Amino acid sequence: MAVEERECNVEIDFEELFEEQSRKLSAMVESLYRNSPFYREKLDKAGIKPEDVRCVQDLEKVPFTTKSELREGYPFGLMAVPEEQVVRIHSSSGTTGKPIIVPYTKNDVSVWAEMMARCMEMAGVTPRDRVQVTPGYGLWTAGIGFQAGVEQLGAMAIPTGPGNTEKQLEMMVDIGTTVLIGTSSYGLLLAEEIHKRGIRDKVKLRIGIFGSERWSDKMRARIEEDLGIDTFDIYGLTEIYGPGIGIDCPRHQGIHFWSDHLIFEIIDPETGKQLPPGTQGELVITTLTKEGMPLLRYRTHDVSTLHREKCLCGSPFPMIDRVLGRTDDMIKVKGVNIYPGQIDHVLRMTAGACSEYQIVLTRENAKDRILIKVEAEDGCGLEKVSGECKKNIKTKIGIIADVETVPRGTLPRSEKKTKRVYDNRDC
Ligand code: ZN
Repeated sequence: MAVEERECNVEIDFEELFEEQSRKLSAMVESLYRNSPFYREKLDKAGIKPEDVRCVQDLEKVPFTTKSELREGYPFGLMAVPEEQVVRIHSSSGTTGKPIIVPYTKNDVSVWAEMMARCMEMAGVTPRDRVQVTPGYGLWTAGIGFQAGVEQLGAMAIPTGPGNTEKQLEMMVDIGTTVLIGTSSYGLLLAEEIHKRGIRDKVKLRIGIFGSERWSDKMRARIEEDLGIDTFDIYGLTEIYGPGIGIDCPRHQGIHFWSDHLIFEIIDPETGKQLPPGTQGELVITTLTKEGMPLLRYRTHDVSTLHREKCLCGSPFPMIDRVLGRTDDMIKVKGVNIYPGQIDHVLRMTAGACSEYQIVLTRENAKDRILIKVEAEDGCGLEKVSGECKKNIKTKIGIIADVETVPRGTLPRSEKKTKRVYDNRDC
């Protein structure tokens, strides 16, 4: 069905889109050169003058901006406005070393709320909805970003924040939550809990908006089935506003992104060259209207594809594929490169396998060993699922893996992001 629909789609006029973006781009680069010491030095070093960057194609000459440069700029090295214009900061979680500090102007805050409201509208949220916001509030961008979008749209925010499942469910039932926002892992946890307690008829949910981690179609189907809702994958990253820079539409054929505020390029992660629409590679983002900390060609490390066709939902905004994984998530096993997303695909085609899995890597006698722990649906023989899964990994990924199948609900659930790869190899 989806394939047939894609074939009928109209091609996007990229020339027209790029022309529109190019006008904003040259103004942005001019202003960046004037106001950001970081970018002035970077462009000078590369021998690029602001007037050399006139269109999206010209971007290819411009060096990338990397996460480590943002870290080295801690705290305000990339700020491009006088401090009196900054109204708020956010920061990345900073798992290693210093976090990244992102300054926002008044305009940045309102553009972000506007983009988030567009996302919610696309997902079908209306001013009559009651939206439970379970991501965290504070320095990181998620909670407050969603909340601002809900308010902008005119719906009712229920800002529970994360954790305390007991309280979340109580609020959900008593207040009559219709839209749930969170990580997909927490969506699954809540769905299973609601199923277990037999309270589904007391729950009024109709829409789920989940983001901040990659989630498989199988996990999605489980959440949708257990809760009887439609779900939407929302995209974003702290360095560029936060969540809300793109979302999938009711057609679920990809992620629409707000091309009036952002340029999405797909590049070859090895050579750094721009790739044409329809080719898979790494997503690189340039901001067009951001003031506090504009970014030129920021490497996201997310793997995706720019769609060539217009979406049948009628939205004028272009689309990328749902993110398949991260270039730095790639694991090398027995000389083969694997993305965890490929395990998702194998599980989808394995009858009786659930969405939840772990990849455990060990090294014995100088040889890599890969063990996939997977859950089986109730009533499915564990041995049978293991055998089927092993066969599919061999044919689809081309490696021999050990598979251990456990009953559904055995692997740990998370209120945040689920850790799936355990690399126990020493070197
Ligand atoms: Zn669409």
